[in-house]
Amino acid sequence: MNLLNFISQYPDEESCKLKLKAIRDKEGVVCRHCGGQDHYWKKDKWQYECKTCKTRTTLRSGTVMQGSQLPFRYWFVAMHLLTSTKKSFSAMELQRQLGHKYYEPIWAMLHKIRLAMGKRDGQYELSGQIELDEGFFATEVKPEEKGKPLKRGRGSQKKTKVLVMAESKKVEGKTTKKGRPRKVGFIKMQVIPDLKAETINERVTTNVSNKATVLTDDSTSYTDFENIVEKHQAQVIPKEKVGEVLPWVHLAISNAKRILLDIHHNIKPEFLQGYLNEFCYKFNRRYFGEAMFDRLLLVSATTKNDFRYRIR
Ligand SMILES: [Zn+2]
Repeated sequence: MNLLNFISQYPDEESCKLKLKAIRDKEGVVCRHCGGQDHYWKKDKWQYECKTCKTRTTLRSGTVMQGSQLPFRYWFVAMHLLTSTKKSFSAMELQRQLGHKYYEPIWAMLHKIRLAMGKRDGQYELSGQIELDEGFFATEVKPEEKGKPLKRGRGSQKKTKVLVMAESKKVEGKTTKKGRPRKVGFIKMQVIPDLKAETINERVTTNVSNKATVLTDDSTSYTDFENIVEKHQAQVIPKEKVGEVLPWVHLAISNAKRILLDIHHNIKPEFLQGYLNEFCYKFNRRYFGEAMFDRLLLVSATTKNDFRYRIR
């Protein structure tokens, strides 16, 4: 949706509330007290009332907006920008654009939406042929690691480990328009605490179909894959060939790193997953066009807020 359409569809607080109500009416409101699904609409209060036990449910309750004091329209603007911008934007930029006095609620709002994006994509199971590799993303050193001697390379405290998986179908005979040998489907990026085989096995079991074929380098972290998926193709990949053998994981990693570097510098390790959620969510819906906003609105209206962090 372009900016002018957005402004004319959601010119004020009421239009946003009405849209949210329409979504909730369609999806169904469940009483948190008795589980009842029949409600009256209390128009003067903008609340639902359970027909059985009279418990009230606000429009925000049970959504990512639960507990937030921010206007509904802020949430709509944030979701509009998250789905209409090619790259991303910082919380500080949005704070400035909204003219809001405090940074933290704007920052938290964006992270709550990113958490909902991650939950939505978490429901998807990757299938077919899948490229898999690890990326090492620059993040701030954790407070408990500060002052300790810095390790080098992959184990560095300045890097956070990310498991990257991309559905990647071989293009028969030739290459795609952009000259790539493989065509990409859905991707996932997950922060992992370490590179142990058991850690990675668990992620693959959760996120990848057991009928899939997984392509990797010959790392020892992947030695159990034969028991988890249908087929595991591991090969020694010289550095200069990585882009040919695993093109999409590497393109995804370098694009995500560039956005993080350009827009969200000095990332704390515990918030990296949120930015990756946003990157993957947008990538996975790259052909949705204007529908992406409505989808994100639906995700936000049907996902509970359990983001509990504060800026430290
Ligand atoms: Zn009830």
